[in-house]
Amino acid sequence: MAKRSVRELLLADPSASDGALGSVDPASTPGVGSKAKALAKLPELHERVFELQERLWAEHRRSLLLVLQGMDTSGKDGTIKHVIGGLDPAGARIVSFKQPTAEERRHDFLWRIRRGLPAPGQVGIFNRSHYEDVLVVRVHGLVPPAVWRARYDEINRFEAEVEGSGTRLVKVVLHISPEEQRLRLLARLDDPTKRWKFDANDLRERRRWPDYRRAYADAVRRCSTEVAPWFVVPADRKWYRNWAVTNLLLETLEDMAPVYPEPPLDLPALRAALAPGG
Ligand code: AMP
Ligand code: MG
Repeated sequence: MAKRSVRELLLADPSASDGALGSVDPASTPGVGSKAKALAKLPELHERVFELQERLWAEHRRSLLLVLQGMDTSGKDGTIKHVIGGLDPAGARIVSFKQPTAEERRHDFLWRIRRGLPAPGQVGIFNRSHYEDVLVVRVHGLVPPAVWRARYDEINRFEAEVEGSGTRLVKVVLHISPEEQRLRLLARLDDPTKRWKFDANDLRERRRWPDYRRAYADAVRRCSTEVAPWFVVPADRKWYRNWAVTNLLLETLEDMAPVYPEPPLDLPALRAALAPGG
């Protein structure tokens, strides 16, 4: 049997009840034999991602955008740190989306997202995204239901447009269990070097876990499209999460198959000009 790609293994199933989240165990490790094997493989994966990113940058035509969503402590920052370690910062762009500023609020919810899109040749990473506008906004009733309900279609249209203009989307839910979140929040309290990350708001959000779960399920169900599917990455194990996201990037870049441009240079003349004494 042919080995299934990580993209196939982690592709969300929008037809499943509970979005696709219910059927994915956050502690599972699909596609990899053991932690030791995954860790041994990572340097080579990073090397290949790096090379393809360089080609994408040289080509300067298309981009890739990794969209990271997940509950607090699901590892969005950790994933970025890990993934960026294998990228050339020149061709990468990381954008974090927080509570909208006063200026952002004056515009449509996609305004700040458009401004954050990667330029041609770049690999972009979104730490949270336009999906917050159907997640936190829905859970806290920040706009009337008719407004957030209309956003699924708006998002699908927007993403189709982004894809059409040459940006490949890799949308990832970092899927953790409430128990793992409890342990990670406790660790933030216990470890003086992590205490600065503790945000009392996270406890408030944690109490709304079932509401978030429903909101995530609907976002995955409604916005898993042919051009911009969702991937559900089991994220209770950090090493697996890193391995999986790196593979999703790699497989997507391989599929894009960027090539070094061949500029029309008169090589003999240029070499002659650079001959010793030239
Ligand atoms: P953090 O990612 O921990 O720095 O927190 C950022 C916070 O901003 C999270 O609580 C998000 O839910 C919140 N946030 C992001 N986008 C929006 C949005 N469009 N509306 C309201 N809150 C948002
Ligand atoms: Mg936080």
